[in-house]
Amino acid sequence: MSREQALARISEYFGSGEFFDDLARRIAIRTESQEPERRAELYRYLTDEIIPCVELLGFTCELYENTVAHGGPFLVATRREGSERPSVMGYGHGDVVRGYDDQWHEGLNPWVLQKRGARWYGRGSADNKGQHTINLAAMKAVLEERGELGFNAVLLFETGEEMGSPGLREFCAANQSLFEADVFIASDGPRLAPDKPTVFMGSRGVLNFELVVDLRDGSHHSGNWGGLLANPGIILAQAIASLTSPTGEILVPEWRPPAIPGSVRNAIAELQIDGGENAPEIDPHWGEPELTPAEKVFSWNSFEVLTFKTGNPENPVNAIPPRASAHCHIRYVVPCRQDEFLPGLRRHLDARGFDMVDIVPDPGHMAATRLDPDHPWARWAIASINATAGLETAVLPNLGGSLPNDVFAELLGLPTIWVPHSYASCAQHAPNEHILESVSEQALRIMTGLFWDLGGPGTPV
Ligand SMILES: [Zn+2]
Repeated sequence: MSREQALARISEYFGSGEFFDDLARRIAIRTESQEPERRAELYRYLTDEIIPCVELLGFTCELYENTVAHGGPFLVATRREGSERPSVMGYGHGDVVRGYDDQWHEGLNPWVLQKRGARWYGRGSADNKGQHTINLAAMKAVLEERGELGFNAVLLFETGEEMGSPGLREFCAANQSLFEADVFIASDGPRLAPDKPTVFMGSRGVLNFELVVDLRDGSHHSGNWGGLLANPGIILAQAIASLTSPTGEILVPEWRPPAIPGSVRNAIAELQIDGGENAPEIDPHWGEPELTPAEKVFSWNSFEVLTFKTGNPENPVNAIPPRASAHCHIRYVVPCRQDEFLPGLRRHLDARGFDMVDIVPDPGHMAATRLDPDHPWARWAIASINATAGLETAVLPNLGGSLPNDVFAELLGLPTIWVPHSYASCAQHAPNEHILESVSEQALRIMTGLFWDLGGPGTPV
């Protein structure tokens, strides 16, 4: 038995079409957690797909109900080989965003995994079914080759990540003893570039909120009342305009991080943002001046207006609308704190006379986390991936996107290592979500090598 043979096993799993088949079955289960009528599918994904798969690997499974009413179930799968061995916690989410079935390219169906050229299309292929299918298969290859994993493993699957992980924090807090481990290793999100193996050790936080200007009941004819009644759309536009410069530089003091730490700056100094084929062109003039594109995404905060509505955009009429609203959000890095953002916004708006703008926070929020790129577990994982891929791994102190990583990093106190298997233009959360065949094949090998090494000498426990 050898590392090489374990890698040969996983290449065979990919080459024989078994990986495609495993993923296709999982994609076919419509686990749209934002649709209440799909609730049974969330259970079915765990009971019909994940439980049989991990039970074959000798894991003991337990399904837990969510204590938050609209939240989906949790699955905890455990395999223990001995207290002297290292313990890893893994994670995946079985739910996906809505299919938007009629918006995909001609002939594609979000619920049927389909290969077109170098791409495999299907809802959840990138986020997150493809990624955890890769990791489960890699564990299987190690187990088959070695006869044992060589480490203890506890895997947590949730089914509400696309709703902001309701109940995840409460569940982990109430069951902390289940998740005692030396390291957390999981996969989600994009690589820095399609052909660049990547690790990230935390994520930006995200805070969503709505701004509302609600002035009166009903619309009023603009010929009779225009110039007499304040227009909520104009007020809200002005309020939003005060939050950034015309080129998106954040102007609210509480929304700006302190200077970028040297270790973070060094880690990302050489990074190039490459979204792959079909990636949008970066607007160099946008955002914080003086920062590189990588610094803007990995070490700074960003503010976005997600929607803006006043009146009836589909059917404009000559009237002053009563109300305007905008969904907005902030992505932010360590050490910024979410609880300072909205009070800061309130002060900013009030100081400019916008006290009629209401701030409505969204429930569900993810805090920012970051692990030092020089942490022993980070160094260990990077060395393992470099050895398998024969390439230098890109190291991100944190991801630009957001994950419920604060639950694992802060609440459970684990060093968190994320090894993403997707890429920035994978269209996750949009029609035409896909993974790249070449990246998936390489990712299967990388994870097999990583789990092989976790069961061998040289781990930092
Ligand atoms: Zn997602």
